[in-house]
Amino acid sequence: MAKLSIRDLALQNKTVFLRVDFNVPLANGGQQITSDKRIRASLPTIQYALEQGAGLILASHLGRPKGKWNAEMSLAPVAVQLSKLLGKPVQMASDCIGPDVPKPGAGEVVLLENLRFHPEEEANDTEFSKRLAAQCDVYVNDAFGTAHRAHASTVGMIAFVPQAAAGLLMDKELQWLGKATRNPDRPCIAILGGAKVSDKIEVIQNLAKVVDKLLIGGAMAYTFLKARGEATGKSLVEDDKLELAASLIRELGDKLMLPTDHIVTEEFRAEAPNETVTVIPDGKMALDIGPATIAAYEAAVASTKTIIWNGPMGVFEMKPFDKGTVALALAVANSGAVSVVGGGDSEKAIKSAGVSDKITHVSTGGGASLEFLSGLELPGVAALTEK
Ligand code: AMP
Repeated sequence: MAKLSIRDLALQNKTVFLRVDFNVPLANGGQQITSDKRIRASLPTIQYALEQGAGLILASHLGRPKGKWNAEMSLAPVAVQLSKLLGKPVQMASDCIGPDVPKPGAGEVVLLENLRFHPEEEANDTEFSKRLAAQCDVYVNDAFGTAHRAHASTVGMIAFVPQAAAGLLMDKELQWLGKATRNPDRPCIAILGGAKVSDKIEVIQNLAKVVDKLLIGGAMAYTFLKARGEATGKSLVEDDKLELAASLIRELGDKLMLPTDHIVTEEFRAEAPNETVTVIPDGKMALDIGPATIAAYEAAVASTKTIIWNGPMGVFEMKPFDKGTVALALAVANSGAVSVVGGGDSEKAIKSAGVSDKITHVSTGGGASLEFLSGLELPGVAALTEK
């Protein structure tokens, strides 16, 4: 069922509690924001609410303060940066509940202090949820990256507000991830890479039901190859997942594409001497897919209408083992297909290939997008009001 969107709400003179994901990376003992990407991601929702005449209470967690005040995880630097981006004052509250939280008038913005300074946030405590909810007329969630957590600010407080809607960023995430996994234009392929089969079993199993082809790369490919009886040398293999990989190979049949050649090396380091092989020799490890695999995967990407991508094809942080990932990023960007890329390393790979702006949707949530791709209902989404 579709969830209520902020666009469905009457916001004039309402106090809106907007749960955002301002969990930004900080340096210098918490004084300096090293990337304001997450703040920018919610600007459209914030600006929309202000234009509609709402008073805004923004709330986020930052880091893992474990339920205690911690000056290095204060959201105060975020208030400063947000004020710059919005071109208007942002009042920083010294707590997230209680008498020190000012009530914003129409067009005003208050940023609450880190929700996780209270242990009740992650415990999804009822009394704390009630106190958060008592501060607002309506609730909006734009924090897709935290939607897989059932905390007071993402789930608990919704029981105590009259309406709970998705923000514009949350809406966009649900729209693209939802379309790609439930109602994709066909053919539809998924490219899955990264370190471990065990991290992505549920994603593989769920996407296998949806997609027409499943392309596997990265270290997880070697668990599949070993399960098929191929030599894997010193490559990363999860021996306790060999049976599972074998059953997936049987189940998926022709849908599954695995690497047919590999870039191997003796040492795990940048610029290590390397060669292309079709059979991985003893004593060597595969750190990237080879040129024949790249060509086969490029061809699959070029002839499809929807692409779901999560995880790199090799150790893309270390040259020259980034070639497979970069080639795929370019192929996806130039395919003309609807492309939906999971957060985390896949996003870094897209960025390092310089093609972020040619991807239909790059998810802002790593863990949350993986859970979505696994077919799980995210608690922070499930709790929102139905349309
Ligand atoms: P994930 O977080 O599961 O998407 O995994 C990303 C990590 O997998 C990156 O740090 C990559 O360097 C690593 N990775 C990808 N391919 C390989 C490989 N062939 N051998 C070792 N690590 C790999």
